[in-house]
Amino acid sequence: MPFSTLERKILTAKGLTEEQLTVLSDAGVASKDDLKTVGDAATLRELIPSLDGAVSDRVMTWAMGQASTATGAAPTPTGKMILDTADVVYCVHCSAKQPKDYKSGDLCGTCGRQAEPILSCFWCASSGPGAFCRKCGTRFVPTAEMDLAVILKQDGLPKDEIPKRLEAMLTADKELLWGRVRRSRV
Ligand SMILES: [Zn+2]
Ligand SMILES: [Zn+2]
Repeated sequence: MPFSTLERKILTAKGLTEEQLTVLSDAGVASKDDLKTVGDAATLRELIPSLDGAVSDRVMTWAMGQASTATGAAPTPTGKMILDTADVVYCVHCSAKQPKDYKSGDLCGTCGRQAEPILSCFWCASSGPGAFCRKCGTRFVPTAEMDLAVILKQDGLPKDEIPKRLEAMLTADKELLWGRVRRSRV
């Protein structure tokens, strides 16, 4: 497939001469896809030694720019995804840095375990990864102490106070609370 009339026009507009277009086709670059194979401006200049640096930059930005929009549009680009790419996630088991496309619940590529534990919120009962509830902002407590946190909630403690209270609590006090949990279950 040779360059279409439009593509030739665009390339000419970017500063390529007819001669350089011929050199390109002689090198086997005859379509925009071929330019994507070329991949970068430096390689393009290797194919056309007479090419001006700025021109090759413009040509490659055009050729590659189209490519990245095409791939970027494929998955669902939501606000959440942007948030996830901004945060770097480290595996809680082996501390390996998770890839950019990491999504909550993915398994760690290094150790194969769930990189982030999914915890339930004792306050609003929604669940999610990380240290804080994404719905109500409450700091998660360890899963083992969920029931204790619920009891403290019933006692009327503010949600921000409960994780701190549990951390500071002595084992004996926790035992007392567990007694209440057990009684509340019957
Ligand atoms: Zn891991
Ligand atoms: Zn919550």
